[in-house]
Amino acid sequence: MTSARGVRAGAPPILAVDRVTKRFGALRAVDQVSFRVETGQVFGIAGPNGSGKSTLFNLITSIPFPADDGRVLYHGRRIERLQPHRVCRLGIARTFQKDADFPTLTVRENVRLAVVYGRRDGVDGDRVSAMEAALDTVGVATEDRDRPAAELSVFTRKRVMVASALATDPDLLLLDEPASGLSKPEVAELTDLIRQINAQGITVLLIEHVLPLLLSVSQRLLVLNQGRVLTEGTPDAVIRDERVIEAYLGSRGRDAVRAA
Ligand code: ADP
Ligand code: MG
Repeated sequence: MTSARGVRAGAPPILAVDRVTKRFGALRAVDQVSFRVETGQVFGIAGPNGSGKSTLFNLITSIPFPADDGRVLYHGRRIERLQPHRVCRLGIARTFQKDADFPTLTVRENVRLAVVYGRRDGVDGDRVSAMEAALDTVGVATEDRDRPAAELSVFTRKRVMVASALATDPDLLLLDEPASGLSKPEVAELTDLIRQINAQGITVLLIEHVLPLLLSVSQRLLVLNQGRVLTEGTPDAVIRDERVIEAYLGSRGRDAVRAA
């Protein structure tokens, strides 16, 4: 049986992270983290600064390093020992906590690189249309496409980074704090863009500090604290969890919320 998204009943989840750990000396930046992401979801990841969110993305993509221990399964296939370009060609793309991949290159050069190193085969004409389609999806104006990324606004540069990720043709897109540094109206546009990408059939794993964004687009939410899973559930349940409030605000903050 197949669903509307073409997912076979009983198929493995698109991503299963199983007890992954990363140590930096004595610090366990990610400590025995496990969770599953179903195909078609927007799956949110929250947690205070330094809780291991970006490191977790590193371990899933092997950019720039794999996990010390644990397993990462993509469509049921183990990927934790694959090199980053192999992970990308299987259909996983990520963005970083920055603006554009290569600021001195033009917008088109940035995205063309992603097309070439992504998993699209095909002739040059197909590659050009893939590049333009990715830029259309994220909404970079035609007149900006031959300008160096560094000359553009923060939001446009972020769009370019998302376009580069899309241009690799992913099934699973990892976005690391895409809303940081954006104004409120820009966050609203970004929210629409994430919904639109997800509606194209791309599963999204989203790290975000801007909670209204995270809560409005995510079907599931994982909260990390000091490298460990604090809780996981629906956004509604997670934000009512006292441990989450305490992790963000401290115990005095928790008591203040209780008293309010
Ligand atoms: P988050 O993205 O949740 O803010 P990170 O995953 O960036 O957190 O970092 C988790 C912890 O690991 C932090 O204490 C950070 O200082 C540490 N860390 C991250 N990357 C490295 C690294 N390459 N070398 C040493 N420590 C690191
Ligand atoms: Mg981070």
